[in-house]
Amino acid sequence: MDGKAYIEQAERDLLHTYNRYQIVLDRGEGMHLYDCEGKKYLDFCAGIAVFALGYHDEEYNTALKEQIDKLIHTSNYYYNVPAIESARKLKAVSGMDRVFFTNSGAESNEGAIKAARKYAYRKDGRTDHEIIAMNHSFHGRTMGALAVTGNAHYREAFEPLIGNVRFADFNDFDSVLSCVTDRTCAILLEPVQGEGGLVPARPDFLRKVEALCHERDILLIFDEVQCGMGRTGAMYAWQHYGVKPDIMTTAKALGCGVPVGAFLMTERVAGGSLEAGDHGTTYGGNPLACTAVEKVLDLFEKRHIIEHVREVAPYLEQRLEELKDRHGCIKERRGMGLMQGLVFDRPVREILDAALERGLILINAGPDIIRFVPPLIVTRDHIDEMISILESCVETDCPRLD
Ligand SMILES: *Cc1c(COP(=O)(O)O)cnc(C)c1O
Repeated sequence: MDGKAYIEQAERDLLHTYNRYQIVLDRGEGMHLYDCEGKKYLDFCAGIAVFALGYHDEEYNTALKEQIDKLIHTSNYYYNVPAIESARKLKAVSGMDRVFFTNSGAESNEGAIKAARKYAYRKDGRTDHEIIAMNHSFHGRTMGALAVTGNAHYREAFEPLIGNVRFADFNDFDSVLSCVTDRTCAILLEPVQGEGGLVPARPDFLRKVEALCHERDILLIFDEVQCGMGRTGAMYAWQHYGVKPDIMTTAKALGCGVPVGAFLMTERVAGGSLEAGDHGTTYGGNPLACTAVEKVLDLFEKRHIIEHVREVAPYLEQRLEELKDRHGCIKERRGMGLMQGLVFDRPVREILDAALERGLILINAGPDIIRFVPPLIVTRDHIDEMISILESCVETDCPRLD
């Protein structure tokens, strides 16, 4: 079948929950993807900040193939070596004390919410605790994660959600303070908002929120699902700020394509929250997924991925700034490391479609923002190529100023 026939078939069989781009992807190699007709694309999406190491990495693939031949799944009734080893490595890179493996970002946030509520419950026995989350946040599509997602449009049709959630403005400490009550059990935020438009937390904001949490014994939860795993030039974005969460969640690039996530906590929270029987998942922490985590963490170290991000990200920033200065329709560049956005004065879907036509994969974050979350192995040459294709697409509607 050709691409068009596959797409027609898909539109008959799959639920219409995504506005998909009209290509059928078939294989990948490094920074490039190929569709089922053999057309090559430069990829600045990485499966939404997932494929940090690029596609078809031989060492990663071999580790997974070997594990498939040994053992794929065991259940959590038993221990398995990849889960034990990957938990140890994840603790080392995060500085957290205890790990619970999940299958996705949303599921990690569900676990974090349960841990925070249980912690508060064990302190005072009440069942009316509140969580403060941020406007324009994104935490996933399941009922609990949706309840703390700061976008009313995503939530409305699915109410009632878990309830007792208050929304504060990101980067506005007074707004957070005004949401605090004697029932607040946790403050949840993304250190760099992803879907909400590539907005980094301001350092003074994070420091004040952390101090507030310490003062009132409120748990600080960071959602590092998108901004974590080296993308900002630190393994976890909060490590830039000199603050530390009580609970953090991670997923997306954690398994570089194998579905896996985790929530992690400090010993203090672990000792005072979830107990045996309180939480579980059939697949979470299975040997195949944890082999992916273990190998990803090994390769990050061996290939100096974070150092590479620090080296190459300023160049991406510079090229995006220059592009912005040349085109009046681009209002702002923002983001951190290899998690960047260009804010346009108009919807960007047409630009993204044109880029795809010219062999460049880019995604949006909201209707007016183009998001840049390439594999972390991206080089200056890839960035130059991306800018040149993107500019040719922007120019059609929005000529150069010079
Ligand atoms: C993608 C994302 C999620 C949801 O992850 P899923 O794996 O799609 O459930 C949660 N939080 C943030 C910040 C994300 O970017």
